[in-house]
Amino acid sequence: MIADKIKSIAESLPAGVRLVAVSKFHPVEAVRDAYDAGQRVFGESHVQELVGKHDVLPDDVEWHFIGHLQTNKVKYIVPFVSLIHGIDSLKLLVAVNKEAEKINRIVPCLLQVHIATEDTKFGFSTAECRDLLASGVWKDLKFVHLCGLMGMATYTEDKVQIAGEFHTLKLLFDEIKQMYFPKDESFKELSMGMSSDYPLALKEGSTLVRVGTYIFGERDYGQS
Ligand SMILES: *Cc1c(COP(=O)(O)O)cnc(C)c1O
Repeated sequence: MIADKIKSIAESLPAGVRLVAVSKFHPVEAVRDAYDAGQRVFGESHVQELVGKHDVLPDDVEWHFIGHLQTNKVKYIVPFVSLIHGIDSLKLLVAVNKEAEKINRIVPCLLQVHIATEDTKFGFSTAECRDLLASGVWKDLKFVHLCGLMGMATYTEDKVQIAGEFHTLKLLFDEIKQMYFPKDESFKELSMGMSSDYPLALKEGSTLVRVGTYIFGERDYGQS
């Protein structure tokens, strides 16, 4: 089941686009099934759960943190996390840099941009994102590396709206790439698209799709 789903998504991805299998709230056994099917990149959104899974699963798993990260929990994931998708404040970026410096590790990060109409989702507005980059303060943070942008579309059936929101993020990505990272080949990630909207995100230029439910089934929030 899980293996078939992984395979069907993998086959639909354009070259250079990667699948982040979102395993939050699913047991280690489910992650292992996906691993055995060849999946290596997994996304988690709770620090404790991520650390627990990292401890028991093979070392060649690439763990991505995709949720809202509290500054006081940064230290638990900085030693091993491959990419933090949800940098939503300068304060958080500074906190990651500080913990990373302590262990002399450079941590790849994405800036989360608020593109949805719901006001419950975290992230910079496009204006705040431009202001942060223009300020230049990120250039002094030597232990974080900005690799791109992440966003979540509105939860709606309206495909035109969703595609429009992804398009907005892609345009912002292109603008920032050209202005600040023209020669930095590692500034290349556009993390957008979930189970319900990843085909639209792919059309709009996503390089990382974060898919959970489609692969692992519905999440059981009962124990949390
Ligand atoms: C949970 C989550 C996903 C996966 O959502 P599905 O609808 O289960 O595919 C993707 N991105 C983020 C940020 C999430 O928190």
